[in-house]
Amino acid sequence: MVREVRRQFDVLVVGGGPAGMAAAARAAECGVRVGIVDDNANLGGQIWRSDSGDGSPREAANWVERLRVAETTMLCGIRIFHQPEAGVLLAEGPDDLHALSYEKLVLATGARERFLPFPGWTLPNVMGAGGLQAMVKSGLPIRGKRVVVAGTGPLLLAVAAYLRRHGAEVPIICEQASWSSLGRFLFALPGQPGKIRQGLQMKGELAGVPFVANSWPLAAHGRDKVESVTISRRGKTRTIACDYLASGFHLVPNLELPLLLGCKVDDGCVLVDDFQRTTVSSVFCAGEPTGIGGVELALVEGQIAGWAVAGRTAEASGLFAERQKLRRFARRLDAAFRLRSELRNLPSDETIVCRCEDIPYSRLRRHSSWRAAKLHTRCGMGPCQGRVCGPATQFLLQWNPESVRPPIFPVRVESLGAIAGHSEPERSEVTGGP
Ligand SMILES: Cc1cc2nc3c(=O)[nH]c(=O)nc-3n(C[C@H](O)[C@H](O)[C@H](O)COP(=O)(O)OP(=O)(O)OC[C@H]3O[C@@H](n4cnc5c(N)ncnc54)[C@H](O)[C@@H]3O)c2cc1C
Repeated sequence: MVREVRRQFDVLVVGGGPAGMAAAARAAECGVRVGIVDDNANLGGQIWRSDSGDGSPREAANWVERLRVAETTMLCGIRIFHQPEAGVLLAEGPDDLHALSYEKLVLATGARERFLPFPGWTLPNVMGAGGLQAMVKSGLPIRGKRVVVAGTGPLLLAVAAYLRRHGAEVPIICEQASWSSLGRFLFALPGQPGKIRQGLQMKGELAGVPFVANSWPLAAHGRDKVESVTISRRGKTRTIACDYLASGFHLVPNLELPLLLGCKVDDGCVLVDDFQRTTVSSVFCAGEPTGIGGVELALVEGQIAGWAVAGRTAEASGLFAERQKLRRFARRLDAAFRLRSELRNLPSDETIVCRCEDIPYSRLRRHSSWRAAKLHTRCGMGPCQGRVCGPATQFLLQWNPESVRPPIFPVRVESLGAIAGHSEPERSEVTGGP
């Protein structure tokens, strides 16, 4: 029998990354009763994920201390999967079910890596760049391993530097963006001293590692696991031996919970007003669901949302100018790392696109929409619920995968029972579910 825990908060924050921690701390410091939920074992989100060797970074520890002093309830290791009625969210823990009631909600659910399918991408040891970094942080030995890093976005550099610090050999970093895009992006950096500092540090850490623009992975090869990768480099191909291929194509916002709650989404991001309010009353959103912008923007948006939910609009407005500057930077980031159209040719007919349901590209291409493909092939209906193949088909086939249904994560049968006990808020045009 699963234990059911009920809790009530003035403000509930979903997501314990920089945005969520900043929102929860600011709100709690105003004296309201705040709960913060994250599905990882510790707060910190993707960037401050604690390292089994090094412990949590200092910034994360500082925010956690502020949350503790402000008597915030920190609920880690539980995952929100459904809203059975307005003002209540259901979350599943390792052996319990939580019904969390709130007056106001801040969604700070972050982003995930975008993967593009190419021949061999399902081989063992072909991983997302951030995914490999997370595994090394959890103890995967990487010393002496040869890791090709390929795809797009600043995360590639952060991951390569991290892996090298931990003893990996990085023979090459392949960036699909062109030098002219990267040049325009670098030109915008002078207004961002934090980014310049970070960039210079990584430049030092990556000294001697070739960074190649106009370059991307074409195929991974190997028998039982990846042994080499063929890359395209300025129109020529080259095959490089490796133990791992770390490949990611920038980030996409985690929109499942905002969509389930009915928040309006525009161009792949949650729409918010000046105070980070979504189109749903009492629901705010901060950090990467509103656009991919990096840790500084996540912290500023989180603080604005935290003050706004506590009614401190004057304090919140004090950060508008800073947010404006960081959003300009985010727009440049988006433009610089936009995917080039050649990448649409990456998958062959046989390449598996939906890994959960083993659907090859040739079967998907016969359909005209995400909905039709789901109905006819079960694409996007496996355990990841379209989190991987959704953004891939959005780019490859220009489909719109923004349809969700509870539960937004696979859950135990007992938890499904909790959904059945409530009326379901249908938000999608299509049937899904695991
Ligand atoms: C895999 C990955 C690795 C990254 N590594 C780096 C790096 O090394 N350096 C760098 O500068 N930037 C990195 N980034 C980018 C960085 O995460 C962002 O710039 C910034 O931290 C975003 O903060 P956030 O609070 O908006 O989101 P996040 O930090 O992503 O935090 C969101 C949190 O919400 C949790 N969550 C989401 N949905 C639910 C739910 N339903 N129930 C419970 N919890 C939920 C997530 O697990 C996550 O912990 C990485 C991003 C990713 C995706």
